[in-house]
Amino acid sequence: MKLLEERILKDGMVLGEDILKADNFLNHQIDPVLMQAMGNEFASYFANKGITKILTIETSGIAPAVFAGLELGIPVIFARKHKSLTLIDNLYTTNVHSFTKGVTNKIAVSRNFLDATDHVLIIDDFLANGQAAKGLIEICRQAKASLAGIGIVIEKSFQPGRKDLEELGFDILSLARIRAFEKGVVKFVKEEEK
Ligand code: 5GP
Repeated sequence: MKLLEERILKDGMVLGEDILKADNFLNHQIDPVLMQAMGNEFASYFANKGITKILTIETSGIAPAVFAGLELGIPVIFARKHKSLTLIDNLYTTNVHSFTKGVTNKIAVSRNFLDATDHVLIIDDFLANGQAAKGLIEICRQAKASLAGIGIVIEKSFQPGRKDLEELGFDILSLARIRAFEKGVVKFVKEEEK
């Protein structure tokens, strides 16, 4: 998605070998105009697939997921990473290792919001090693919900997440695909390489 690629080049910051800081528009300050354009992109790709719910993970998956949900006219659920006084039982849970924080979080989704009648679109902000997506897939498995596909805002294609998820048979739409960081500069996967 051209608009997103331009924004990454303008405001993204490469940290070390393999992290992109996107605090200006995605991970801290949020650009709602960009989020809406991205939500519409997810919605048009996954339209007519009978999707009943969008499942994401807090915090940064929520904004793009909500705009996709608005366009598709369906609810958005976010898996919680933090203990909540009101979310204590009747849960689907699994462990997710965080790529950026280096810690393992237990994530939880209430059984009230996901079940075997659901056909789910997973959305997240970044795809690196695929741990977050796999955690959300596991939540859907526990709920016996089926999966329509996975929407990712920024995929780092040099890390194994996409390949692993494709091998599991999932349909993945990534709005920006990063091939490499070359001397601190973001290089995208070229059209002919897709
Ligand atoms: P994975 O689970 O695929 O290894 O990593 C995806 C998760 O880690 C995302 O939910 C995101 O929060 C975080 N993440 C992975 N790589 C990056 C990155 O380069 N920049 C930022 N800001 N977050 C990342």
